[in-house]
Amino acid sequence: MPAMTPAERLLTAQAQRPDRKLGRPRRAPHRNETRRGLQIGHVAGIAIRVHSSVVVIAALLTWSLATDALPNAASGYPTAVYWTLAAVVAVAFLVALLAHELSHSIVARRHGVKVESITLWMLGGLAALESDPGDATAALRIALAGPAMSFALGVGFALGAVAVAALGGPAVIVAALVWLASISAVLAVFNLVPAAPLDGGRVLAALLWRHRGDRVSAAVSATRAGRVFGYVLIALGTLELLAGGTVGGVWFVFLGWFILGSARAEAAATVVRYDLAALPVGRVMRFVPVRVPATMPLDVLVRDQLPADHDAVVPVTAPDGKVVGVVTRPRLEALGGPHLGWRACDVMWTTERVARAEPEESLADLIERMAGTPSGYALVYSGDELVGIVTPSDVAAATNDATARRARGRRSHGQHTAH
Ligand SMILES: [Zn+2]
Repeated sequence: MPAMTPAERLLTAQAQRPDRKLGRPRRAPHRNETRRGLQIGHVAGIAIRVHSSVVVIAALLTWSLATDALPNAASGYPTAVYWTLAAVVAVAFLVALLAHELSHSIVARRHGVKVESITLWMLGGLAALESDPGDATAALRIALAGPAMSFALGVGFALGAVAVAALGGPAVIVAALVWLASISAVLAVFNLVPAAPLDGGRVLAALLWRHRGDRVSAAVSATRAGRVFGYVLIALGTLELLAGGTVGGVWFVFLGWFILGSARAEAAATVVRYDLAALPVGRVMRFVPVRVPATMPLDVLVRDQLPADHDAVVPVTAPDGKVVGVVTRPRLEALGGPHLGWRACDVMWTTERVARAEPEESLADLIERMAGTPSGYALVYSGDELVGIVTPSDVAAATNDATARRARGRRSHGQHTAH
């Protein structure tokens, strides 16, 4: 399946947890843990991780092969034979998935793109790339490498089945090889659907990039195809559920939902990486004229000083006038009330828990730092003077704005494109 860069993984993780606003993880060190999985070793210097959901998938696959697919294709063998062979086929299937991802990774590395790790999880494999390919041809080769491997494996398993049958080998082995050949072909074809984040979407993006000379608009177009495909899968799955199917329908809905979320996150991540990199923090920050003393009673602060918006923020100052923290509405809401007898300094995020920025620096760099702080907010300084604040919704608004411009086919503010 897809190969992802760090910014994409950050945004995908956030897209899949709608309760978390951009850049406001509750426990920063544990973010992305859900899909990291357990490291089981290295292949060609690339860390291989397996997520716990793979155990469930392997078990379900073994059960369905042993009780349904294999006995239907070749009847008359003892139950133990079906179960043993089913377990071997399930492991071979996971190895084939891993080979698909390794194929992406090795071609990526040949084109100078570092590969962090490969994770196998419920919906397939995920190769984590550390950067983007430098040109459209490299992007095209990396995207095609995975499906090419799946296709080659499919041919290999099919030839194996023909050979075993020709030599008069057991029919159940032939059935197992035919199943592996079919699933490999399905993987190759499904992944070539031209809808990002599937490999076919990356092929489409690379071709559009070559044609238009603009990688960002090409990537955004491919993710729009991905969203359409996500909706199609959800609709098909729902129809199957209504028609009385169960497992297949649920699977389609789940896969469609995942593709939809990933496509959305990928469009945002691409825009962040290329458009927001050229956007200075000073263009996005809000000006906060009010300052409150650390000893101000909280009820007075909330009544008289805190703006009405949902991520409102007020800087808190020490007696010498120095800013020592910020009171934010999300934190007040998280703490709950009533706040009788509390003062501003009791509920503020101290400055160490807020990112520090300068007006001239790139918003893309600041977003990564904001995501690493407990508050998710940033204070913007010119020298020693506080000149503005960036909130999570300021970042979301800038991202949405740039994505919308891209969707309308326009380049964003000060975009520099390599032709
Ligand atoms: Zn792939």
